[in-house]
Amino acid sequence: MAGLAHAGVGLAAKRFAPDVPLGVLLVGAYAIDIVWGVFFAVGVEHFGATTTNPWSHGLFMALVWSGVAVLIAQRCCHNWRTSVIIGLLVFSHWMVDFIAHPMTAVFPGDAGLPLFFEGSPTVGLGGWSTQLGVNIGEYGTLVVGLVIYLWTRHKLQRDKKLRAPA
Ligand SMILES: [Zn+2]
Repeated sequence: MAGLAHAGVGLAAKRFAPDVPLGVLLVGAYAIDIVWGVFFAVGVEHFGATTTNPWSHGLFMALVWSGVAVLIAQRCCHNWRTSVIIGLLVFSHWMVDFIAHPMTAVFPGDAGLPLFFEGSPTVGLGGWSTQLGVNIGEYGTLVVGLVIYLWTRHKLQRDKKLRAPA
């Protein structure tokens, strides 16, 4: 979860992977939620506070999905640096959710993120446990990410103009 904050991280990632289209970066930032959507569709994971969704949002599986993302990116772009950045971007989803959960302002009773699978300890810093925390965390991250993205795009366009023959 933590909807807008992930978009902020995806936007900011442009700074570190300027060759990767923004759409791909946003998919990377939300990849763990996309995995959750697949598990939700087949009935393995659920929506709400009483479920910890370990197959998508557990620390162990988040590391696995990030590793899978590195391998997929490497197959597509043949650039290890970019592939590792995409892997880190996928893992950033877990980090943001770790800061956000337990999101008791949004889901009262939320326990946090599992380290491994069902029944394992759950962790989280509780950044989204107040409405103020939700607002700062979601909109603040989105705005900072957007500023970094626009600044990066401006710089890329300027560099392109400098390189073009007069
Ligand atoms: Zn999530």
